[in-house]
Parts: sequence; structure tokens; C-alpha cells
Amino acid sequence: MNRIRILFGSIIFIMAINLFGNYSMINAQTQTKPKKGNKMGNDAIKSNDDWKKVLTEEQYHVLREKGTEKPFTGKYWNFSGTGKYNCAGCGVILFDSKTKFDAGCGWPSFYDVVDNKKVILKDDLSFGMHRIEVLCANCGSHLGHVFDDGPKPTGQRYCINSVSISFEGDK
Ligand SMILES: [Zn+2]
Repeated sequence: MNRIRILFGSIIFIMAINLFGNYSMINAQTQTKPKKGNKMGNDAIKSNDDWKKVLTEEQYHVLREKGTEKPFTGKYWNFSGTGKYNCAGCGVILFDSKTKFDAGCGWPSFYDVVDNKKVILKDDLSFGMHRIEVLCANCGSHLGHVFDDGPKPTGQRYCINSVSISFEGDK
């Protein structure tokens, strides 16, 4: 009887360790860490207070609290300069004006990112919808959402808040 108890106890113990282990792994995966070899590195990781010092109130709301700017109000929905769009949180290049198109939705829209590794895509179930959130892979800032109703060649529509990006014209 005792042996069975000990055996049973050991199994529970091993299961608990497994559960805990998996849980830690999931946690590690969902944390937005800077990519190795990225020069921005730890500088891009800031406390909420530090973010408040470097961002405007609107930027903080969108980038750090996953807010959305009102459509047709941002800087770039109706803008067609030639150049790159950097993350407003950390300066990493995220989008190229070559992939920008007029989606008619009131937010700047792109059919691709400069590099898939520069963004993190995450399921977003808020507001009773299933959407895919787009985050900066370097600093974890919220950029917008991506939908699969974009134009060729990717069919993707990265619907991005103007306040989340900063345009830099080609020289
Ligand atoms: Zn960033």
C-alpha cells in the first residue's frame, strides 16, 4: 500500500514539474525580447515610466496600451512620401513606402514588412473579434493589426497606426 502511495506521489510530483516547466516555457515565448545580435538590444526595453518620458500621450496609449488612433486623423494614412517607416518606439525600420497602398480604411496600410523578423504577430481576441496584432519585435510596441484582404503579391494588409511609425524620406 505504501509503495503504491509513494509511486502515486512521485507521478503527481513529476506531472507538477512538467506543468511548471511548460508554463515557464510559454511565459518565455510570449515575452517580447529583443532579437539576438540586434544593436538596439536592451535599450529598447523600458519601464512604463521611461516610456512615458519618451512618447507623447497618444503614442503611449497606442504603443504601450494597444490603443488605436481615430481613422483619417493620423499623419500617414493619406501620405505618399518615398522612404522607410521606423518604429516610433525604438527606431527599427519596419515598412517601406514601396509596399504602402491606399486601403481606404483611414490608417496607413502596407502589404508587407521589410523583414518578417522585425515584427511579432499575436492573436488578439479583444472586442469579440479574432484579429492578428502586429508588434515591434525589438521593443514590443503595438503597431496595429494585419488582415488577409490585402493586394498582391502577399495578400496581406498591415493596418498600422500613424503614431506607431515615423517616416524617414530617402536621401
Ligand atoms: Zn520598436
